[in-house]
Amino acid sequence: MTAKSKANLAGLSLANLRTLFVDAGEKPFRAEQVMKWIHQRGVVDLDVMTDISKSLREKLKQSTEISFPKLLQNFTADDGCHKWIVEVASGSCVEMVYIPEAGRGTLCISSQAGCSLDCSFCATGKQGFNSNLTVAEIVGQLWWANQKLGGFDSSGNRVVTNVVMMGMGEPLLNFDNVMEAVSIMMEDCAYGLSKRKVTISTSGVVPAIDRLKDFTDASLAVSLHAPNDELRSQIMPINNKYPISELLRSVQGYMDSLADKRVPVIEYTMIKGVNDHRAHARELATLLREFPCKINIIPFNPFSLSDYRRPSTSSIANFRQILQAAGFTVTVRATRGEDIGAACGQLVGDVQDQTRRSRRHKRLAAAKRSEKVFTGADNLAIAADRVVR
Ligand code: SF4
Repeated sequence: MTAKSKANLAGLSLANLRTLFVDAGEKPFRAEQVMKWIHQRGVVDLDVMTDISKSLREKLKQSTEISFPKLLQNFTADDGCHKWIVEVASGSCVEMVYIPEAGRGTLCISSQAGCSLDCSFCATGKQGFNSNLTVAEIVGQLWWANQKLGGFDSSGNRVVTNVVMMGMGEPLLNFDNVMEAVSIMMEDCAYGLSKRKVTISTSGVVPAIDRLKDFTDASLAVSLHAPNDELRSQIMPINNKYPISELLRSVQGYMDSLADKRVPVIEYTMIKGVNDHRAHARELATLLREFPCKINIIPFNPFSLSDYRRPSTSSIANFRQILQAAGFTVTVRATRGEDIGAACGQLVGDVQDQTRRSRRHKRLAAAKRSEKVFTGADNLAIAADRVVR
């Protein structure tokens, strides 16, 4: 068996780890032991796993490996946010961000290197798509955050309490790997995060949302960003395929399948002069009148390859007030980690083997501003101008 074909124990759910051990003639409880070593104690060396016999460890070395993506860079913001850049097997780099708040710490992670969906307000989308992250590359972002932050604070509380899949990529276009990674995050012998603390954020891949209930009961956030199909299709091309009515029907189906009473979060990036008018707020309130949800307003943060602008503080307040008056719970996402390019949502990374779209965006931007054509290294710098998903 070559090293390439070895099973990566770091990317196997408890069920798959148990199968691996049973198939090898071992007891299934070995799976819990190995998961605890890897995900709770941060151990990637089989020889350190002393509650596993030496002979079994030697056997595992023949057919398995324990491998996480490589951590390349670490940035720390004045407000305590962290941004890390990790290199994945395809050679691309993806970003993750840790946002500490009173009583909780949220890790925003990536699911793909680049993205194929080309939302008009998104820096990731302008890079095109490179690769789906593997299970170990997705869960490895949480593993690394725990390594770097220490896992638990001095009072014994978790440092990372919440995981949101709002980084690079559309999680539901990497369905199988995301489901496996979410399962590991929620496993008691791994990270033990509750279903309410793991959020999958989607731009609206309806067939995948329809399948979701058969695989997970994680929380759901939906990038809506517009109150009608005409505007949403301009901002998010995926709306041409899955219009708002289908999207809301699908999301409601998932929420109805959950055992508890949870509602989705509707994400609404406010872009000046595009979707930030009072009339848009009123139309949104009407659209969602029969749709239980919370609404999260995300003020757009300008970035190099976009002409969009951030709305004024007063238009954000007006927008919020209209929705609240209509009975919605509305939050406005605070900008965090701006000094390290970790402000909410849009992660840029460094996508290798870029598509024609990303090259076109770069040529246009270079021509427009008479600047040099962007290189891979420049893409990392663009992170400082990250926009909001
Ligand atoms: S907003 Fe999300 S789905 Fe849209 S292009 Fe960006 S990463 Fe992809």
